[in-house]
Amino acid sequence: MEKIINYINGEYCEPLSEEWIDNYNPSKGEVFGVIANSNEADVEKAYRAAKEAYPAWSNSTIEERSRVLLKIASLIEVNLERLAKAESEDNGKPLSLARSVDIPRASANFRFFGNAITQFASEAHESVGLNTINFTLRQPIGVVGCISPWNLPLYLFTWKVAPAIAAGNTVVAKPSEVTPKTAFLLGEILSKAGLPKGVLNIVHGTGPTAGQAIVAHPKIKAISFTGGTKTGEHIARTAAPMFKKLSLELGGKNPNLIFADCDYETMLDVTVRSSFANQGQICLCGSRIFVERSIYEQFREDFVARVRELKVGDPFDDSTRIGALVSEPHMEKVLSYIELAKEEGGKVLCGGNRVTVPGLENGYYLQPAVIEVYDDQCRVNQEEIFGPVVTIMPFDTEEEALQMANSVRYGLSSTIWTSNIDRTMRISKKIEAGIVWVNTWLNRDLRTPFGGVKASGVGREGGFEALRFFTEPKNVCIKYSE
Ligand code: NDP
Repeated sequence: MEKIINYINGEYCEPLSEEWIDNYNPSKGEVFGVIANSNEADVEKAYRAAKEAYPAWSNSTIEERSRVLLKIASLIEVNLERLAKAESEDNGKPLSLARSVDIPRASANFRFFGNAITQFASEAHESVGLNTINFTLRQPIGVVGCISPWNLPLYLFTWKVAPAIAAGNTVVAKPSEVTPKTAFLLGEILSKAGLPKGVLNIVHGTGPTAGQAIVAHPKIKAISFTGGTKTGEHIARTAAPMFKKLSLELGGKNPNLIFADCDYETMLDVTVRSSFANQGQICLCGSRIFVERSIYEQFREDFVARVRELKVGDPFDDSTRIGALVSEPHMEKVLSYIELAKEEGGKVLCGGNRVTVPGLENGYYLQPAVIEVYDDQCRVNQEEIFGPVVTIMPFDTEEEALQMANSVRYGLSSTIWTSNIDRTMRISKKIEAGIVWVNTWLNRDLRTPFGGVKASGVGREGGFEALRFFTEPKNVCIKYSE
């Protein structure tokens, strides 16, 4: 049995708790290893290592930090195949996706922040007449906590830890207990790259125990969290009275607005992807599709035909487009929404059933579902399902499309398909979302601010925004005489 253990102070170590949790391979529906079920004592051990490492790391030169981050990026590339297999096995996603998106992006995160830190500058303001110059000293915060979800395991884990350490902090991090394997393997890479001991400590375990211990730790001064909105609320309730710096990247129910004047074939290709990539388990998936009435019938027919063609199967098979859902409880949750859709009067146009894959009969596979809904306020259209399920609905006017797009509690991303630049600008200004993609989807430039509004989160990651989050700005005002 494979054992996933903690990485603390530059060494792999068994949990002080001496407790273990089963780790499932969702493509087979079988336990394939155990994970350390760390407790408060393990988090304390990780905190102490991070505290010890902080003075030297925060005083290291930018060149030194940059060099280590770039080395980690290269070693992730060298280990691409091994990490991609581990990610696919742990999460159920197609190996081809892990190989082409997840792992390359994990490497890109380290490379990006290894370079970005060399360009990160602070502002200066001279007050002419008052003979003062103010400058902003940006200092690392200290020991920070990073908590990441299961859908893009190494991709999102590194998206947090890379800027945190680039900025000179030391870290206690927890990946999701559902998908711990690539973060576990990262430990080896950190040691090989020469990251000083204690700079990045990885603790495995459950959210309510290990995660909560990080959030509630009185000396961990900032928390960067990506996960569900409910968990985010809980974390905010713990961290806010302790006045911790908090970045929350939460759930989404993203609208995909399709206008008749779009490039239809490109839209169709990308909409299949934006609906069902990673089994629809990407916070940025466009799960509510609104289509201008003049092309609605055509779209419904073409889209459903394309979705029916998506091959559901073994994640290790290169022709598979839809792998397994991450866990049995998650699959059950998604199936319950299909039932709810029917109860609410929605029409399941395709999919929505469990699929038996030969040789992998116990795996958590679902046929991707397209549901036609008649009321945008119904629960399947309002609540985050986070699986291979999209709703479709027609609209008549731009105002109506915008109103429906904004009528949810979430505001993470949005997509608009149109060739009208004026409309693009009108909607971009009014839509309640942190990201607007126009005639594209999931096109990411790591320099841009990333995050959501409303119940999708607080704060921004990405580019210098992440380096700003992981530093404390201090105003220094110097008076001079002529
Ligand atoms: P969860 O909120 O369940 O978990 C996220 C992380 O938080 C996991 O590591 C989890 O640990 C941990 N956790 C759970 N409870 C606590 C707690 N009380 N204190 C501290 N940590 C805790 O989310 P999922 O893993 O289910 O991920 C799916 C969600 O993430 C979706 O809602 C999705 O929209 C959102 N998401 C948002 C993104 C964004 O950028 N806005 C990007 C990707 C996903 P464990 O798993 O071990 O319980």
